[in-house]
Amino acid sequence: MAAASMVLDPATLTVAFVLLSAVLGTLLLFSWMLNRTVKALAWWGSAFWLIAVGIGSANLAQGQPAYAILLVANALALLCYGVLYTGCRIFNGRSAPLTAMLAGVAVWICAFPFIYSSHGYRLILASAITFVYSSLSAWELGRHASRPLASSRMAVVLLLGLAAFNLSRGTLGIALTSVSWIDTFASRWSPSMALVLVMFGPTLAFMFLSMAKESVEFEYKQAALVDPLTGVPNRRAFMENASQLLARLGNRPTSCLLFDLDNFKTINDSYGHDTGDRILTIFGDVLASHLPQRTFGRLGGEEFGAILPLDSREAALLADRIRHAFSMAGANTLGGLANVTVSVGCVTGAGIDAGALLRRADAALYQAKRSGRNIVIAA
Ligand code: GH3
Ligand code: MG
Ligand code: MG
Repeated sequence: MAAASMVLDPATLTVAFVLLSAVLGTLLLFSWMLNRTVKALAWWGSAFWLIAVGIGSANLAQGQPAYAILLVANALALLCYGVLYTGCRIFNGRSAPLTAMLAGVAVWICAFPFIYSSHGYRLILASAITFVYSSLSAWELGRHASRPLASSRMAVVLLLGLAAFNLSRGTLGIALTSVSWIDTFASRWSPSMALVLVMFGPTLAFMFLSMAKESVEFEYKQAALVDPLTGVPNRRAFMENASQLLARLGNRPTSCLLFDLDNFKTINDSYGHDTGDRILTIFGDVLASHLPQRTFGRLGGEEFGAILPLDSREAALLADRIRHAFSMAGANTLGGLANVTVSVGCVTGAGIDAGALLRRADAALYQAKRSGRNIVIAA
């Protein structure tokens, strides 16, 4: 087969890898300049440049690299992984400690005089440091994600792959240091390793760009669908979620709860608008702690709604638990100065649309207000 006899020249692959990394680094930096809100792109772009300069300077020198070149080239390559990890933390909006970024390089520089003469030890140390940083980066993107992004999960898989690759390289380094195709980061490479990295770099860079794009989209989506004061879904999101739920439930019973805070104008007038805002937030929290995500929302002003797959008895019980929890939470905030209460209209139907359900709930709510407020009326 042609592929089997294909010759992969390590030097050529190295040149390809170095140029590719520089191009990818430039592209990442370029997209950061176009949209500065995603600062991680600048870190990741710099990481690609560091690996390009590090690997490039070590490999483009003819023959066996000198002491200083080996030291500095590997330091740059390892700094690349520290910077990559820092980028992941910054992407999640977390702190970026300098010590974590530089620890790997520091270990390398301190250990270098003792391991300089041994290819095997240099390989083991460089692989171990890279393994730690890629695992930390995967952990950061997997465990501390501030947003649920599909591309982040792909990046976690890639980084775990990089960690596994370095783990096997390091352990092979322990077992087989005399085997010629296993060599240090800085001198000769095996063609297959260079080939893997040539494919890996663009894939990771693509994933980073996708993460940046997806995170910006996520922020826009948040802004369009979440009420900024209370943090609960806004009217638009509520209506979308409600329609989806109703379509899914078909002819099964569905209940709609409509909440309206009682005498809210008076509360604003007596305690100030800020207190009013705080009470709205408290009510949002009460809803969030009693109802599944995406089943409720702020419809406007001091009016909230929920649509749930419950029969009328269950719905009325749940509404009453919410009514009670809110009056307790409100009393805590105002120190018993005033009663904050909510009236609820509660209706159950099957096979009707969200608008109709809400109109019927509104009629029940009107009854609740007429019967003296702080009550659940189930129609
Ligand atoms: P009822 O018991 O009949 O519902 O009386 P109410 O005073 O609650 O009803 P009304 O509709 O007269 O007043 C609603 C008030 O809610 C008026 C408005 O100033 C206030 N409000 C609407 N949105 C906000 C907000 O975002 N923050 C604050 N603090 N108040 C708001
Ligand atoms: Mg109202
Ligand atoms: Mg009201």
